[in-house]
Amino acid sequence: MQQFKELFAYGFWDFVTNTIIYAAVVLPFFLVFWVLLKPKFQNRRIQEKQRSTPKIIRQEIKNSVISLLIFAIIDVAIYVAILKGYTQIYDNISDYGWGYFVFSIFVMILLHDAWFYFTHKLMHHPVLFKHIHKVHHQSIDPSPFAAFSFHPLEAIIEAGAYIIFSFLFPIHLYALLGWQLIQMTLNVIGHLGYEIYPKGFNTHWSFRWKTPSTHHNMHHSKFNGNYGLYFTWWDKMFKTEFKDYNETYEKVQSRISKK
Ligand SMILES: [Zn+2]
Ligand SMILES: [Zn+2]
Repeated sequence: MQQFKELFAYGFWDFVTNTIIYAAVVLPFFLVFWVLLKPKFQNRRIQEKQRSTPKIIRQEIKNSVISLLIFAIIDVAIYVAILKGYTQIYDNISDYGWGYFVFSIFVMILLHDAWFYFTHKLMHHPVLFKHIHKVHHQSIDPSPFAAFSFHPLEAIIEAGAYIIFSFLFPIHLYALLGWQLIQMTLNVIGHLGYEIYPKGFNTHWSFRWKTPSTHHNMHHSKFNGNYGLYFTWWDKMFKTEFKDYNETYEKVQSRISKK
């Protein structure tokens, strides 16, 4: 019973902390682009006419809270695994050094990108889409709150990468947190609804491999393409990038430079 109480308290504070971190990332983007400076950024809107409604945004927030609860339950399970010595999560940075610490964050980003692409593509199978992924696609014109707006099963799939990493190779807890903060921020930017990356980003020899906001926004408006999260290479390799991706990005940029 005592142990149950301790785990419950761990899960509760984990949920509170994650929610505060999530709010600290998502709220500035939402407030600046969707509320306070909305008219100023009108020319940066990826979908010219706003199709999102307050009702959809409330639904996105509700789904996100459920996702955060699921992440907290998974964190409790990982915590138990740490206590039992099953994971590869380590305490002292000096065990592997700073070089490895930074390297492990890059590895997590690359592996998570692959995990996201393939699980996401799989969830577009008609059966999985209908029962799971449809919830995320209720946001045809996504707001930053769409980043974690998932069906509970999709929240578990999303957390899958994190579960695997904990067991796969040595990771410092702060490296895990650092990666989660990076992925949360990029995820929110991907659902921003406004383009903040510069002109020429999509054709630049190195930046063309990074997804600007338009890339994932098109996935929400057109569904069957642009499945990638951080990078464009899986979409390019498997020919799932929308044919009019570059054209759409350039149209958005020409609206931005007009003003
Ligand atoms: Zn999708
Ligand atoms: Zn999305």
